[in-house]
Amino acid sequence: MLDFLGNLERTHMCGELRASDAGKTVVLMGWVNRRRDHGNLIFLDVRDRTGFAQVVLDKELVPEGHAKGEQIRPEYVIAAVGRLRLRSKDAINPKMPTGEVELETTQLLVLNDTKLAPFSPADDAIQNEEVRLKYRYVDLRRADMQRNFRLRHEITLAIRESLSQDGFLEIETPILTKSTPEGARDFLVPSRVHAGEFYALPQSPQIFKQILMISGFDRYFQIARCFRDEDLRADRQLEFTQVDLEMSFPRQDSVFAVVEDFLTAGFKAAGISLPKPFPRITYDDAMRQYGSDKPDLRLPGLTDVRSAFTDADLESLRIDPALPVIALRIPNVGELSRKEREDSHPLFDTSKGAKFIDDLKRLAKTFPAAVEQVKKLTNADDPDFLVIVSGDPAHHIQASDTKFPGRLSEREINVYLAAGNYRVELAKKYAAKHGAFAITDEVVARAASNSESAQSVDKTEHALIDGSRAFQPIWVTDFPMFEYDAEKKHWEPAHHPFTSPHEADMANLLTDPASVRANCYDIAMNGLELGSGSIRIHRQDIQKQIFQSLGITDEEAKARFGFFLDALEYGTPPHGGIALGLDRIVMLLTGASSLREVIAFPKTAKAIDLMVDAPTTVPERQLKELHIRTTLKS
Ligand code: ASP
Repeated sequence: MLDFLGNLERTHMCGELRASDAGKTVVLMGWVNRRRDHGNLIFLDVRDRTGFAQVVLDKELVPEGHAKGEQIRPEYVIAAVGRLRLRSKDAINPKMPTGEVELETTQLLVLNDTKLAPFSPADDAIQNEEVRLKYRYVDLRRADMQRNFRLRHEITLAIRESLSQDGFLEIETPILTKSTPEGARDFLVPSRVHAGEFYALPQSPQIFKQILMISGFDRYFQIARCFRDEDLRADRQLEFTQVDLEMSFPRQDSVFAVVEDFLTAGFKAAGISLPKPFPRITYDDAMRQYGSDKPDLRLPGLTDVRSAFTDADLESLRIDPALPVIALRIPNVGELSRKEREDSHPLFDTSKGAKFIDDLKRLAKTFPAAVEQVKKLTNADDPDFLVIVSGDPAHHIQASDTKFPGRLSEREINVYLAAGNYRVELAKKYAAKHGAFAITDEVVARAASNSESAQSVDKTEHALIDGSRAFQPIWVTDFPMFEYDAEKKHWEPAHHPFTSPHEADMANLLTDPASVRANCYDIAMNGLELGSGSIRIHRQDIQKQIFQSLGITDEEAKARFGFFLDALEYGTPPHGGIALGLDRIVMLLTGASSLREVIAFPKTAKAIDLMVDAPTTVPERQLKELHIRTTLKS
């Protein structure tokens, strides 16, 4: 019963049809989204990438087409030829952009039928993600997914254009290469030609982009795929895409300006305006004010409430007077029962020497003045939920203290982090109460409907939605250069080892690693780290010193990065750059809850591609060719 397409050509996309097209001869092609059989009249909602159109099969007008229509099921692929007409007044559907018209069909072709998939793209929410991923081709037909990928395309295009306008050249770098350390495991690819040798997939194009600066390209960018073998979470994938860039002779400000340009362009493509310049905060201040190096500015930060307590208060409350005493405030939570409060307690991390008080009513019985003062300092209203976080002298954690006055010690950071993490967890839990996240969702939804209506009509300027409250970018600067690994008992780089230390801290590299600040920066938004970058080391002597300070021996450095150390000796300009996670940006702008919603063919949390069924075993013959033997019994 299937028809051939023959010479038939599509004249319109389904979602584009408007009242002004009435009277035209139209050929539509697409999938049957729904079918309604009213006896002599059969209605098909036909879907393509742009939307839906109503196709009418009238038994009198097209008996043959009507007969086919009786057999048609959802997801059949059809072509409909006919004359577009205005719907009668009572049949107008104001919810559909094409709701004023319908196709009076004169010829219907059934181009393909379909097996019954376990779900229909016409359904709004499909709960079982595994089924969605297995039948990804059907899942991607869903309006939500179509919108996500259209938006991803628009955002990427805008970013490319912005970077190109700022003088950046897009240059590709290899996928089969040598290890580039970004703190994850490498994916290795065995060489057939060179027995026993391996390529590594790039964790990022880091070394190549630095070499491109040595080569005089001045400004490079790439929408680059990165591969990192690490455990997956909602916002991580084994392979992901970065907007990666590098520039010569930059100051930190130059990098910031470029990123602010392309991010605002990307947001604009999604219908949202972002004010420039973005605010900045040092790492230490981010810790003090948010207990996080990726602060979510949509909610109030932490408040230093040490001054609300006397020394005697602290002693009787068993609070370490040498460590921060801070309060976090979640607005508008309302009265909580003891049980409700206790349900959240497992979310507080006490493992690093921090403790908390969340029953301020009770605290006020013994320390009324202190509680009054805490409320004042935090600007708390009655329904706000306050938690006081402090150091626990009974749980003294071995940690380093910097020798630099005014800088945070690791022990202090631990208290701030515990407060910051609790703040984020409580914020998620009480999202419906404080409403700060709903503002973001609302802006995304409004931008989406805005761009949908803009999409098929014309793509010229559409009013941008003010995104300044919903999306709050912030630069975080002056990170510590090293982190102490208590288990391994040595200092680890907090960033990749090409990051330059602050010139002023260089002298302390080997003697006091804790005090060394890195010349690097992150950009965060709404509690997500969007990207990070740095001014690089451009001198071979300093690069060697850094490797040394990280415990990388000369031989190891030579074996792993010899080519790069060599290259550094051939006239390397000062340079720096950054990379931002494109998937994360798109995730924010689509309001998606996981990266898998914005990656066409993602892997599951168990690192499996359910559609293609990867990874799999391979025939013995192939392993042999690669000089590989597995130790697993099949
Ligand atoms: N290569 C770094 C990363 O992937 C970014 C950068 O330093 O430019 O995080």
